[in-house]
Amino acid sequence: MKKVYLDYAATTPVDPEVIAAMEPCFYEKFGNASSLHAYGQEAKKILEDSRQTLADFIGARPEEIIFTSGGTESDNTVLSGVSCALEKKGNHIVTSMIEHHAVIEPAKFLEKHGFKVTYLKVDKDGLVSPDDLKKAITDKTILVSIMHANNEIGTLQPIAELGRITKEKGVYFHTDAVQTVGHVPVNVGELNVDFLSLSAHKFYGPKGVGALYVRQGCRMDTYMRGGDQEKGRRASTHNISGIAGLARAIELCRDNMDKENAYQASLRDRLIKEIPALIPDVRLNGHPAQRLPNNVNFSIKYIEGESMLLSLDMLGIACSTGSACTSSSLEPSHVLLAIGLDHETAHGSLRISLGRWTTGADVDYLLEKLPPVVKKLREMSPLYEK
Ligand SMILES: *Cc1c(COP(=O)(O)O)cnc(C)c1O
Repeated sequence: MKKVYLDYAATTPVDPEVIAAMEPCFYEKFGNASSLHAYGQEAKKILEDSRQTLADFIGARPEEIIFTSGGTESDNTVLSGVSCALEKKGNHIVTSMIEHHAVIEPAKFLEKHGFKVTYLKVDKDGLVSPDDLKKAITDKTILVSIMHANNEIGTLQPIAELGRITKEKGVYFHTDAVQTVGHVPVNVGELNVDFLSLSAHKFYGPKGVGALYVRQGCRMDTYMRGGDQEKGRRASTHNISGIAGLARAIELCRDNMDKENAYQASLRDRLIKEIPALIPDVRLNGHPAQRLPNNVNFSIKYIEGESMLLSLDMLGIACSTGSACTSSSLEPSHVLLAIGLDHETAHGSLRISLGRWTTGADVDYLLEKLPPVVKKLREMSPLYEK
């Protein structure tokens, strides 16, 4: 059977060149980067070279990079670490209603421990308003956390502009850039951010490795304790193979970004144009222009996302509804509710995310198979009136 993977926002396959860069770290260069002997020093060199590659790519200094186990750990580290470090200064955090659970859940946890959190609304396209942010910041605010691009609807936030506001107010600014690093240009100076999260498995690197950018001078408590790796800022033996893979993945994205962007955006735009032409009663979710080059998200009325997903899966097509993290629960996505969809419409969403190996033929296959799947499900749906 034909197999078509259209779920790159959930995770990407590892590029073979990344695997080649990782391989030596499992046997000849297996040392612990904290050891003083030659094995350790060899691993340490890979670690520091990788740090330099990543730092250069996002416009940071190498000392400002902390390697972590991925996006979730980076997000948790910022929320918890900044709250602990600045609790004497204030107890208020500002974030948005459409953040990834890796930000929402630590924020909720902090609320149970005496912090106040403002969850900013977004407009129908998923955008945070700079004015709302300005109004939300008080003299008790210690951190603002707004994601760079949303993982479900692909909307890109005006991070540089939001960052100018936090800078003026003297408040730390974090962005979860897990969906953008490797996909669109990301420069911490231009974005005016103090903290930035990223994860390798979203840009053709391995799972279980990521990084956190921390601007020099910013105060943050340690989240992972138990060793003096990363200058005491993140304990645990360095995942050298993963870190080497992350760095190689960054190089490949860096060298091909413009070409890959343009290519994926052309496939995206075909889907955005053709799906409504083939299927009645659909609605594009996310900003029409200010969106990730690889993201398509439609609400397909009168049917359930889960049934659509399973029907497509039987035809070899892998997409997503809501986000992968919540698709096991029956609650509709908090992101789709936040952009104003009613529960029924939110339940019938389809996210198609494209990547390095998506072909025109893959898109053709989806455009051939999706309309009859929707038609059949609608015929069985009690919500659908012909
Ligand atoms: C995938 C994702 C995460 C989680 O990253 P992991 O490396 O899987 O922990 C966090 N935020 C966003 C926006 C994501 O897309």
